[in-house]
Amino acid sequence: MIPRGASGSDLLDKLRALAARRAEVDADAAFPGDTIIDEVLSASEVVIQGRRTLMLGSNNYLGLTFHPEVRAAAREAVDRWGAGTTGSRVANGTLAIHTALERELAAHFGKRHAVIFTTGYQANLSVVAGLCRAGDVVIVDADSHASIYDAARLSGATTIAFRHNSPEDLARKLARLPSGRRDRLVVIEGVYSVRGDVAPLKEIAAVCREHGAYLMVDEAHSFGAYGPRGLGRAEAEGVLDAVDFTVGTFSKALGNVGGFCVSDRPELDSLRLLARSYVFTASGSPATIASVRAALRVIARDSSLRERLWANTRRLRARLEAGGCLVEPVESPIVSIPVGEELPAVALWQRLLEAGVYVNIMLPPACPHGACLLRASCSAAYTTEEIDRAAKVIAGVVREAGVRRTAGAESPIDGG
Ligand code: PMP
Repeated sequence: MIPRGASGSDLLDKLRALAARRAEVDADAAFPGDTIIDEVLSASEVVIQGRRTLMLGSNNYLGLTFHPEVRAAAREAVDRWGAGTTGSRVANGTLAIHTALERELAAHFGKRHAVIFTTGYQANLSVVAGLCRAGDVVIVDADSHASIYDAARLSGATTIAFRHNSPEDLARKLARLPSGRRDRLVVIEGVYSVRGDVAPLKEIAAVCREHGAYLMVDEAHSFGAYGPRGLGRAEAEGVLDAVDFTVGTFSKALGNVGGFCVSDRPELDSLRLLARSYVFTASGSPATIASVRAALRVIARDSSLRERLWANTRRLRARLEAGGCLVEPVESPIVSIPVGEELPAVALWQRLLEAGVYVNIMLPPACPHGACLLRASCSAAYTTEEIDRAAKVIAGVVREAGVRRTAGAESPIDGG
């Protein structure tokens, strides 16, 4: 047995190690993960360090955070229901607007049941750890979001990872399990958030059906963007009926915070008493719930935002490529640019910020060492002028840093 403390005699050592890493970067410069936004001017522009900055790292895919109807709904809800719920639905009760949103989400997806959660992270914790326990098996895509891995760990179930986006490897792993049991849950994402690549959902759904596994799809980054009605990748691939549990978040296309699960399975409802991250946490605030209801109404009636998102995505990709930038060749509003090692990547990110463009930066463990990425998430909110300006700045800074475009980086994007 390894003696306690062998990895460092002080609990604070790991925090000090991180601070030392932070100190390697110029102390006055902005630091990833620690950016203060002083003002939000619109869905596309913020003020950082006194500078007007184009916000290309928001996940605000449809720009709904500033939609007049969405903001009005939040304001009215505060006046009518108060600022917060101050507790869990199980303990403090459910507001009628919570159940109204659940009904509307279920109807929007054409599913019978819906449960909402306080965050998307908690939606994953609740569904996976509510469904699975010790003795069950959770099978996750190797590139799954941290919330899915945390959910699997919380469940206590045996966790198996299959090779990213490989239905063949999933089939191999399922075939090794005892047959004739229904104690296994396969968890994938519609779109993977680091590179923006989409799951081969049709094939994965077929493998799940063949092996009697339940399928859960996290459509966090795909809801609102893909499919004829914007329901996500499962709708886009025509396999919505093959998905047992669709999970999503309010924090991206829906422009607020929270999460949901929709399903045709009536058993879903019992999660409300089983899932610790539903039972033991406060429910979404009235302003949040009301604004999400308004955002959902906008999405349901107006497909032009989705069309705008894809037009903007195509434009951003094309402008970046024309500027000599290597972009990940995926069909997604997530536009990732490989930039190599960690310290040069951070320096690049800082230069972009100084030039008035905010993007996300992916550093280990979100990506392999030496394979850092800058990630822009496109939005329907951007004007063509903003896209052109952002692409010019990004391509210029990336080019100057000597990150070169390599062959085979053509974007196959076709508008989803
Ligand atoms: N799932 C995925 C795939 C995500 O990318 C995220 C957040 N980025 C979440 C779940 C968690 O959602 P939230 O931030 O709304 O808690």
